[in-house]
Amino acid sequence: MTNKYIYFIANWKMFGSLNTLNTLDKVINFVKKLKKNKVKIIYCPPNTLINLLVNKFKNSPIMVGGQNCHEKQDYGAHTGQINSKMLKDVGAKYVILGHSENRQLGENDKLINLKIKSTLNSKLKVIFCIGETLREKNKKVTKKVLAKQILKGLKNVKNKKDILIAYEPVWAIGTGLTPKEIELSDVINFIKKRVKNVPVLYGGSVNTKNIQELKKIDNVDGFLIGGASQVSKNLIDIIKKTFN
Ligand code: PEP
Repeated sequence: MTNKYIYFIANWKMFGSLNTLNTLDKVINFVKKLKKNKVKIIYCPPNTLINLLVNKFKNSPIMVGGQNCHEKQDYGAHTGQINSKMLKDVGAKYVILGHSENRQLGENDKLINLKIKSTLNSKLKVIFCIGETLREKNKKVTKKVLAKQILKGLKNVKNKKDILIAYEPVWAIGTGLTPKEIELSDVINFIKKRVKNVPVLYGGSVNTKNIQELKKIDNVDGFLIGGASQVSKNLIDIIKKTFN
């Protein structure tokens, strides 16, 4: 682990209800005792819970982010949408963009680029997700795919200080599969050479067991955690094991 901070980002996806909020007390108490000021924990719940989590984490260093947003920064007639300005308004500090589950719904690199720019304009940080599909991995075009996603996604983004990249192989998300240590380390190096001075996280089936292996990857700056982050005990375990 090389960078200034180690990130643990919880992506709750379309999970979470008012009832689940109490379970976060465990995480708040754990963080109070955590003597690691290099750790950044960010929860990205569904939009319905953002402001509630912001209030819950008021006296804690834990931060909150959105899971996506519209590309326009202005208000407008876009039923069902929410923009970065609105996320900022309710206290979010980060936005996940380019997640493969949204790419699969039709989001392309150009749209993701617009979203990234509008989010940065709103003075929020971007968690930019990139990753290859299984087909692309088998065709051995992983780096080509990542290079294209980076080039197009970050087109005309001059200042990258508010960007984090999450390398999430599509075939690893929610499947229990993870890349081999050597492959992952190589890909992370590749990304770091393309985009200088940007934290690079790994995401895809991170859990309480495989974290023991994943933490050995010396160039990873943290983890984006989906399924396992919904259970507070599991997230705490992942953080503990990263440092033990
Ligand atoms: C994700 O979707 O960002 C993710 C990492 O999911 P999971 O941990 O469930 O594979």
